[in-house]
Amino acid sequence: MEIQLLGTSAAEGFPGIFCNCDTCQDARKLGGKDIRTRTSALIDGNIKIDFPPDSFLHVLRDGKPITNFEHLIITHTHHDHFYLDDLRMRTPGFATDFGNPLTIYGNQTVVNRCKEKFSSLKAYFNIVLLHAFETYEIDGSKVTPLPADHKPDEESFIYFIEKDNRACLYGHDTGMFPEETFHWLSEQKIDVAILDCTNGLIDEKANHMNIAAIKEINSLFMEKGVFHKDSQIIATHFSHNTGLLHKDLKALLEPNGIGVAYDGMVLTV
Ligand SMILES: [Zn+2]
Ligand SMILES: [Zn+2]
Ligand SMILES: [Zn+2]
Repeated sequence: MEIQLLGTSAAEGFPGIFCNCDTCQDARKLGGKDIRTRTSALIDGNIKIDFPPDSFLHVLRDGKPITNFEHLIITHTHHDHFYLDDLRMRTPGFATDFGNPLTIYGNQTVVNRCKEKFSSLKAYFNIVLLHAFETYEIDGSKVTPLPADHKPDEESFIYFIEKDNRACLYGHDTGMFPEETFHWLSEQKIDVAILDCTNGLIDEKANHMNIAAIKEINSLFMEKGVFHKDSQIIATHFSHNTGLLHKDLKALLEPNGIGVAYDGMVLTV
């Protein structure tokens, strides 16, 4: 399984689109891994998770092949994960030879919003409602949505994805996992976990996690055998509010065996 991290910031981008705090100013000066776009991941080139407003920028950066996906899994409808207007660009008049209909998977809010938006474009989009803890076969992978602690007015999901005897936990956006998600994951073996680190050192692990929450999950899952010695644990979805640059995050996380995501990072498991 190859997982390409297309973007690794929180909703405002990093540096924040309109922000002049010291961290954002430093990030602009440093460039490189301190420039983060809104989050999305691509698995084996054909299953994409989330469709942020920076998707156009991702294609300019990484090239046309990253648009060849035919399956799009949505975590929740915050705008940094679900920018529906640009999906409309995958229809005649805006694109030619764009391939098979795109299948979009998500919770009831995702389904409702897609149906409303694409009511006259049904030939180009399949829309599939997902239920928590049910496992779906998607293009050779098994995908299980799990409840997240995030955006309580809809059923936000994180995803457990299995392929070729390898398992990935796509763990954001979420605060510390809800009890039933913890319980379900405790029975699994995870080779790569991509986890929400929006809050950095801020003492808050509800709605979004922080470094302490990731460390807690890491040791708990190690103890239970959910993570093994070769599991890759990666923190992502960073906010400028943390005041932490890439080098600061590395210094805080790497000694605990936790990697720091950056835009364009490729994970192979
Ligand atoms: Zn987000
Ligand atoms: Zn800032
Ligand atoms: Zn969110």
